Amino acid sequence: MTRVVSISPQRPDDVVVDLLAATPAEVVLAAAGAYKAQRDWAAAAPAVRAGALHAIAQSLADSAVEVAALIVREVGKPAGEAAGEVGRAVALLRYYAQQAFDPIGETYAVGGGLGFTARKPRGLAGLITPWNFPLAIPVWKSAPALAFGNAVVIKPAPDATAVALRYAELAAPHLPEGLLTVLPGGAETGAALVSCVDAVSFTGSSAVGRSVAVAAAERGIPAQCEMGGLSATIVLPDADLDKAATEIAYAAMGYAGQKCTATKRIIAVGDSGPLAEALAAKVAALGLGDPAESGVVVGPLITAHARDRVLDAAAQARAGGGQVVAFGVVPSAEGWFAAPAIIAGLEPDSALNREEVFGPICTLTEVSDVDTALELSNATDYGLVTAIYTADLDAALAAAQRCETGMVKVNAPTAGVDFHLPFGGEKNSGYGGKEQGKAAAAFYTSARTVQIGASR
Ligand code: NAD
Repeated sequence: MTRVVSISPQRPDDVVVDLLAATPAEVVLAAAGAYKAQRDWAAAAPAVRAGALHAIAQSLADSAVEVAALIVREVGKPAGEAAGEVGRAVALLRYYAQQAFDPIGETYAVGGGLGFTARKPRGLAGLITPWNFPLAIPVWKSAPALAFGNAVVIKPAPDATAVALRYAELAAPHLPEGLLTVLPGGAETGAALVSCVDAVSFTGSSAVGRSVAVAAAERGIPAQCEMGGLSATIVLPDADLDKAATEIAYAAMGYAGQKCTATKRIIAVGDSGPLAEALAAKVAALGLGDPAESGVVVGPLITAHARDRVLDAAAQARAGGGQVVAFGVVPSAEGWFAAPAIIAGLEPDSALNREEVFGPICTLTEVSDVDTALELSNATDYGLVTAIYTADLDAALAAAQRCETGMVKVNAPTAGVDFHLPFGGEKNSGYGGKEQGKAAAAFYTSARTVQIGASR
């Protein structure tokens, strides 16, 4: 029997959860229960589904302090961000509650008759989620799935099991039995889920996402995979340097760089000296340490293995000629901490410029012109977000057209996503269409075309 053990990264002797993983047979059982509940749910009036989502939002809002504390404890997210994540989850639930009332199709003229489309739910959505947004991601997938009449089974990352189970507990009183289930487990449980649902929405690493997409394709079900990132921030010479440095420091190091949208590559057009100096000051000023303490924005890495990977990457980059231009100091706390580091002078094809290291480490590269900056920022297999800092709107818009990423942000950090905007990556960062915003409806429903009369 496989165990799911989730440990607090700032206090490794604090076991948050230790339980058995759901077996493939249990996954099939949960799916059967979900299908039973889904039939009535799909047929219910939009007001019923909206009402349930609003009620879940209220339960979460009423438990906000407790849930935020659990997020801090289980995944080491700084308290301010954890509180923000709960607030965002509440807002997401309310936003998708309203989408239950949206029109479900379009009408067309077909000669003397009528053509129309009507969206219907897929049935059962399998949601496979990572640990770094332990509440927001299960919510931003399940809220639209439920709003549009589906049942959901969520398979959270083992390291985020307690938060996902708490979400299920808070939702349970407001939903028909079996409609939303959280099944703890790892790869085996996740693979079993893909084998018995009607659609799968995955967020996690690119390697696993690709395998999920292949397994879904073999079954002929739609898959949406949001995956890793190696996001670049381009700073033009006319940028507001203080604003750029402040936001980049946070986007690269906040939550110890453990966001798919974290800035991993900084590209300075022209002399990078002033930017490097500003970044050094901003990074040094970031609060590091116990994520429960106010003012801390850089906490621990999720596991000892993740911490070692950051330390190895930093050592390798220095051995390869990289110079550390900004760094933080590891607190003398227990837990899996690594000092933030920005490393300059690396070759464009060095490991840190090619591979996602999920931690507080990024590169700084100086180039002479915007064309080279865009070439470098695009020279990766990932395509999640590009940020551009400049005072010239024409230059920003022209550059934005040439970015090979699913999202471009101008004078705003790579990290941070508004939930009402469609979100998703290109290349190895995204597969199968965007999520959030109004894009979610296209994934969690399929449209039937009905024609009445005309055409021969
Ligand atoms: P991961 O790929 O290791 O795990 C993601 C989920 O997949 C977990 O629930 C895991 O148990 C499950 N899983 C593992 N193997 C599986 C298999 N064979 N079949 C089915 N499910 C399987 O990722 P992680 O370490 O939890 O999260 C970090 C990664 O997530 C980073 O690469 C980060 O960039 C990415 N991420 C992307 C986004 C985005 O929106 N693009 C958002 C957050 C995180």
